[in-house]
Amino acid sequence: MSNRILKSVSLDMQVPFMDLAALHAPIQGEIERQISRLASSSSFVLGPAVERFENHFAEYCEVEHAIGCNSGTSAVHMALRALDIGPGDEVITVSHTFVGTVWGILYCGATPVFADIDAQTMNMDVSQVEALITDRTRVILPVHLYGQPVDMAPLQELAQRYGLYLVEDAAQAHGARYRGKCAGSLGDMACFSFYPGKNLGAWGEAGAVVTSNPEFAERLHRIRDHGQPERYRHTELGFNYRMDAIQAAVLDVKLRYLNAWNRSRQEKASIYNETLIDAGLVLPEVIKDADSVWHLYVVRHEQRDHIAAELQTAGISTGLHYPIPVHKQDVLSDLEVSRASFPVTESVGKQCLSLPLHPCLDDVQQAHVCEKLMKILESL
Ligand SMILES: *Cc1c(COP(=O)(O)O)cnc(C)c1O
Repeated sequence: MSNRILKSVSLDMQVPFMDLAALHAPIQGEIERQISRLASSSSFVLGPAVERFENHFAEYCEVEHAIGCNSGTSAVHMALRALDIGPGDEVITVSHTFVGTVWGILYCGATPVFADIDAQTMNMDVSQVEALITDRTRVILPVHLYGQPVDMAPLQELAQRYGLYLVEDAAQAHGARYRGKCAGSLGDMACFSFYPGKNLGAWGEAGAVVTSNPEFAERLHRIRDHGQPERYRHTELGFNYRMDAIQAAVLDVKLRYLNAWNRSRQEKASIYNETLIDAGLVLPEVIKDADSVWHLYVVRHEQRDHIAAELQTAGISTGLHYPIPVHKQDVLSDLEVSRASFPVTESVGKQCLSLPLHPCLDDVQQAHVCEKLMKILESL
């Protein structure tokens, strides 16, 4: 009897791509107490809760300042505004990213210039960057995609030599490290998203820019809050990008668990690496200088769509990050770059498949994913 139940459970096992309810269950009471304190204080926008989280997050990233805002997309926009990026300026980034990276550039009226990605890491191919620098280039904007820091030393050297700014898109890399230094502390500024599914996620929309430069910090404070250095005095074009205090309260609780959650992701990534080594997939690689926090575990295969459909039939949800490169999006079709070719970017877009990987994925579920996946691959 009990055997039969066990068997039917394993046959019907559902493996969700993410499980935020399970992640939050043990800390829900703690978070709700903070939200209820906030309700009594009626300080809902910026204020003490936001400042507390900003201080803790800056400390976490090993930088001087964190400026909380309402999304990662706004964070990229704010960072580029703080550098006075505008029409005619060029920003070097990658096309294999979430579109939010590129919105910030377009909102400034500047021109995105793309480097192709490296076939092993799927991160910016830093060896291509120097050839892309022109007299209009102002910023290099690497994206620490899937939780792995980009190889920053060559970019730091180029930024120094050509007098460019270096802004990290660290929206997927909270707590990742490069040569021992925290993502967010590797350039002039770094942009984070706290969208609910990120390694550190709010209960709604939120983001932040971090920096150790006091002048950038001051500009960022002004830009996110209507361009006002003090109330009702508006000295530059500002935005309403302020951080919601409820999100800050949630994030401040969750920040205490981030390292443990990241370690859990790293352990599960090692299990995938070991189990799938001979399965016939291209597995993600991490450079020796980087400690990835495995926001996503992305494998590649030419028959990606078929594999994803078969996994879905078996109750296993997967994701696509990202199937259409940014330079191929309709919104960029007027730009010359939409007709350029980035072979690795384009092939990764067609082949990438994100497997379930989150702190609450248990061993039985992960073994089930590996077993089904290997069975599907054998039958191809
Ligand atoms: C999530 C994400 C963003 C945008 O953040 P939002 O908070 O969703 O606006 C930007 N860049 C990357 C790489 C992201 O993953």
